[in-house]
Amino acid sequence: MSQYAPSVGIVSLGCAKALVDSERILTRLRAEGYGISPSYEGADVVIVNTCGFLDSARAESLDAIGEALAANGKVIVTGCMGVDETAIRQTHPNVLAVTGPHQYEAVIGAVHAAVPPVDDPHQSLVPPEGLRLTPRHYAYLKISEGCDHSCSFCIIPSLRGPLVSRPAQDIVDEASRLAQAGVKELLVISQDTGAYGQDLTRGGGQPPPILSLAEQLGDLGLWIRLHYVYPYPWVDRLIPMMTAGKLLPYLDVPFQHASPSVLRSMRRPADHDKLLDRIARWRDACPDLTLRSTFIVGFPGETERDFEFLLGWLERAKLDRVGCFKYENVAGAAANSLPGHVDEEVKEERFNRLTELARQVTNDKMQTKLGGSIQVLIDEVDEDGAIGRSMADSPEVDGEVYIEDATGLTPGDLITAKVFAAEDYDLWAERTPDATNR
Ligand code: SF4
Repeated sequence: MSQYAPSVGIVSLGCAKALVDSERILTRLRAEGYGISPSYEGADVVIVNTCGFLDSARAESLDAIGEALAANGKVIVTGCMGVDETAIRQTHPNVLAVTGPHQYEAVIGAVHAAVPPVDDPHQSLVPPEGLRLTPRHYAYLKISEGCDHSCSFCIIPSLRGPLVSRPAQDIVDEASRLAQAGVKELLVISQDTGAYGQDLTRGGGQPPPILSLAEQLGDLGLWIRLHYVYPYPWVDRLIPMMTAGKLLPYLDVPFQHASPSVLRSMRRPADHDKLLDRIARWRDACPDLTLRSTFIVGFPGETERDFEFLLGWLERAKLDRVGCFKYENVAGAAANSLPGHVDEEVKEERFNRLTELARQVTNDKMQTKLGGSIQVLIDEVDEDGAIGRSMADSPEVDGEVYIEDATGLTPGDLITAKVFAAEDYDLWAERTPDATNR
């Protein structure tokens, strides 16, 4: 007689790195025979993987915990906000357990205490590539944890500790398993992707390990997309791999600001003229390069002049994709005590001006794609057509490509299409007769 298999629900908040943590927890629980419930009601216990980065994210995490408690009653809290157990228990004293980020063992232990596993784990329930919360054709690949920088607005180093890189062979093995399972695109993430391996080779004088890791991933023949690449000098050496088609011609570099005084207060490198030169060289070497970045407006001490400097820099840099955030205090961050906090209305006004400029720049660049041929990775198909992404679009954060005739297409297909319309971040394209599905 088969035993009743207990079931676990999970709510995953925050960034892609937290999503990977959730996937690891689920994979392990599934391997132990637990079922995964899509609803609170059907679960024996619910895990809430929280985000603790901004105050607004902490509030969202507390709401999610409250919702899970009301609907289910048995709740285990993990993730970045888990480091502040006092704050969580002040609002929700009845949670079963609170653990911090990537404390997988502690989460599994708390699940065991709440709902013991069945005696006979069904290993076959877990595919070799693990369980994923993303669609079947793309996956996040986390290559390291932690960060050695000390940006004044960020508490990641105190939450997650210094840089700890995964061994390259582990990463390449995981990427190969994902490729065998049908993944077409790998999104390489970490807190600091360009720094990968610096902890493994300290003082050794070897080439930066991100270069050989990128080469090895590039040999898999997938779309390899790099996120969160701090602009170290050796990042220049990734560009030829993009030109050669080993990596997607896409680079996500979080610049955060351009004004030297704001960057100094942020404790980040402050030579944005040199960066403009580097961007120009990257584009010369790889004309299809898509540059994505994020910026913070309203940082403490940011004057109107600093902000206009940033706008001027953006006009010259002509980044392809720009994300913008209004500065918020983060509990425990050094920036909280800086002088010159900016009024909310001013932040809002600067946010609107920057996003409008970024929209115009992106829109102008998108118009240059009209009539061109692009490869599109199909994400969704329904009766109205298909939605996919070009090499220039990362899932969730960038634009989409709409294809009207979806006959015979399924998610994960890679097709060639001709662009006939463009607006803001999105493109409309028709399949070319020799469209190649894979
Ligand atoms: S580099 Fe990124 S993760 Fe590291 S301290 Fe700065 S903002 Fe935080």
